[in-house]
Amino acid sequence: MNYHTPSSFSDASAIAASSKGKTRFLAGGTDVLVQMHSDIITPDDLIDVKKIQGVKDITKNKDGSWTLGIGVSGAAMSEHAEFKKAWPGLVEATDLIGSTQIQGRATIVGNLCNGSPAADSVPAQIAAGATVSVIGPSGERIEKVENIPTGPSKTSLKKGELISAVHIPAREKNAGDAYLRFIPRTEMDIAVVGCAVSLRLDNGIITEARVALGAVAPTVLLVDECAKAIIGTKLDKAALKRLAQAAEKACNPIDDKRGTIEFRTDIAGVLAVRTAKKAYDRAQGK
Ligand SMILES: Cc1cc2nc3c(=O)[nH]c(=O)nc-3n(C[C@H](O)[C@H](O)[C@H](O)COP(=O)(O)OP(=O)(O)OC[C@H]3O[C@@H](n4cnc5c(N)ncnc54)[C@H](O)[C@@H]3O)c2cc1C
Repeated sequence: MNYHTPSSFSDASAIAASSKGKTRFLAGGTDVLVQMHSDIITPDDLIDVKKIQGVKDITKNKDGSWTLGIGVSGAAMSEHAEFKKAWPGLVEATDLIGSTQIQGRATIVGNLCNGSPAADSVPAQIAAGATVSVIGPSGERIEKVENIPTGPSKTSLKKGELISAVHIPAREKNAGDAYLRFIPRTEMDIAVVGCAVSLRLDNGIITEARVALGAVAPTVLLVDECAKAIIGTKLDKAALKRLAQAAEKACNPIDDKRGTIEFRTDIAGVLAVRTAKKAYDRAQGK
């Protein structure tokens, strides 16, 4: 195995593009190293992207949007008071990843590119309307986060492509986001269902919403029908009922030891309601 430490994204991309075998990028390593130890993957080229300048930066841009480096850990996001205030739901989702030790290493880009439908930060990234810069042999492009995962352990990234930054929009006034998951124990487990909601209010009426569900389909889902169910409402009982129904209808889950199809579907509706209420309260400054 060759271990590389490129100093630029174009070098990282060139190494991956010219590799004759399996490649993996090394961010926090909390998925890759575990997979290597368990012989799930033995990369021919392991490309450590943490030596590239600026990858650990959290930058607030002039228009109020945010750029997160691809090496920013969950702990660094959590400790950034202004970012946490702007996007508490994204930070609380990232905070759920593993333990304190994992938090010090794990990145939301690794969480996304590992391709797990149960990845905790991914619904929150999607609800936030996050995009990523992708750099590769054919140049650079901006991609919506929801377009990256294509199935369990699969992404839309082509050979030689990697993510070079995450972009989070400016947080508008009267807006809030939240993430909740269900796990059988209190921590250190994989989501049976996860739900993220981001919404904006005008005089208490929801004018914009994005609802994402995790662990109920081969990829994290952005569910437009859930958003439609609550836009134009003050999150009254009827809107919440429609939201739960839309969440349940979107589900296409697996049956496994963590939960049956019926249980996951039911929980998706319950979590969508609870998460929307939390995001709504936050948008009202509560
Ligand atoms: C004990 C333990 C508990 C965990 N608990 C949770 C949990 O509760 N919730 C959860 O969602 N996850 C959990 N995880 C999984 C893991 O911690 C997360 O998925 C984490 O966010 C991965 O980030 P990383 O930076 O460590 O990724 P890495 O392991 O470095 O990389 C993961 C994947 O992303 C790719 N990659 C990395 N950077 C890039 C890039 N810039 N461009 C393209 N591809 C890239 C790599 O090639 C690799 O395939 C847990 C893991 C452990 C070991």
